[in-house]
Amino acid sequence: MEKELQTFYEEYKQRIAAYQLALNTMYYDQATIAPKNGAAYANQAMSILSGERFSYATDPQNLAKLNDLYETTKDPLLKRELTLLLNDLNEEKEVPKDFYIAYHKAVSDSETAWYEAKEKNDYEIFKPHLKKVITMQKQMLEYSPKRKTMMPYNLLLDRFEEGMNEETYDAFFQKIKDKLVPFIKKITQEGKKIDASIFNEHYKKENQAAFLKELQKYMQVNLKECYLGESEHPFTESFSSHDARITTHYYENNLLSSIFSFIHEYGHALFGLQIEESFEGSTLADRIGMAMHESQSRFMENHIGRHPAFWKVNYPKLQKQFPSLTSLSYESFMEMIHVAQPSLIRTEADELTYPLHILIRYEIEKMIFHEGVDFDELPKIWADKYEEYLGIRPASDREGILQDVHWGGASFGYFPTYALGSAFAAQFYHAMEEQINVEEALLHDFQQIREWLKENIHHYGASKSALEILISATKESFNPDYYIDYLINKYTKIYQLQ
Ligand code: ZN
Repeated sequence: MEKELQTFYEEYKQRIAAYQLALNTMYYDQATIAPKNGAAYANQAMSILSGERFSYATDPQNLAKLNDLYETTKDPLLKRELTLLLNDLNEEKEVPKDFYIAYHKAVSDSETAWYEAKEKNDYEIFKPHLKKVITMQKQMLEYSPKRKTMMPYNLLLDRFEEGMNEETYDAFFQKIKDKLVPFIKKITQEGKKIDASIFNEHYKKENQAAFLKELQKYMQVNLKECYLGESEHPFTESFSSHDARITTHYYENNLLSSIFSFIHEYGHALFGLQIEESFEGSTLADRIGMAMHESQSRFMENHIGRHPAFWKVNYPKLQKQFPSLTSLSYESFMEMIHVAQPSLIRTEADELTYPLHILIRYEIEKMIFHEGVDFDELPKIWADKYEEYLGIRPASDREGILQDVHWGGASFGYFPTYALGSAFAAQFYHAMEEQINVEEALLHDFQQIREWLKENIHHYGASKSALEILISATKESFNPDYYIDYLINKYTKIYQLQ
């Protein structure tokens, strides 16, 4: 009996994985090289495919077999895999198919509208789509069986990181507000003045791309498994355990943007590539919480990518691509990549002010899902919050509410995981430093960094929860003080505060 069920399950997994691979490929294509005018046709095809996937995944006969397998199996790993799968399906199966298809069509259209709105710097183009997506998202949540015991926004928070809710996030963000807001104010008022405007001179795209090739070599990126493309908003898609797609965006008037977004996205990609190979195509590879995933990208971006030893090796290579940097010393360069100042764009923000960008989005999302929000007022609400926490106001929609793709793609509850992930990253880094010589590794053998991450974090995939991995790797449960202390110590030195 169990053997038959297992045979069924293998086929089921492969078929779902095939739909998913097609959808991921189409998504990646659209975000990178597809001509814009083909979007409507492709969106239509994608909504049909995701409808097919949905019908097969939630077919009552298939669900019954999955539940039987879940009940009969004694294998704890398979049990975990099925738990993650059935969690989703038990949600999805309550949704009427017509609504499900309409919802996904609305989300695709909304993303397309977001691209256009951002390009034209016009919130009005995006507004009706955003309104529709939020209304449908709220309706979607009402179908959830968990809705009986969970508030709508908590459902979303839990979806992106199992076990997280408003209460835990409120406590976390309160700590950030209490410690970091006054600290950032102090830096602005009393800190050493660091001018990094040199990075906004003209840096040719082809030289930026050539430098990223150097970085890929240094970080031992396997080009047979990892592809780097370009898109408006950098992202990563993990297709399989041997295929990860990264994108970056080149700005010729911003040298650091493509570099740090590549390092960030490579953190995501490496995670996907180092998961236990036997987990491929299953929930054990696909259902990693977003905070855990972001912890790996932020780890790479900030703890590795801003490490003094990282640039001891790579700064000369950057100077070679851009001879105008020859007159800029390594010491000054290191200071300049740590400039911390209030800014408008989240993805360009420094690591110190970054959590405040997340706090702002978190508070707006709470408004949207609690009391509702006036969509005409949204750009103003956004600007007011930036003024309150960071002391600056966006002059345009593009620099304000239109900057991120997340809401266009109906990813509400996602943003808070970025800040939580940064806090996980600091705790992981603290543990890694106690176990290996990070400086030596960055100077001579990047492999050691990859191995440590694989052994302690990546290979588990989703077979353990974020908290379990955190405890096994750091011998301690989640402790946000590592994050706060790391930021305050590092920036006190850089800004020469008393
Ligand atoms: Zn990321």
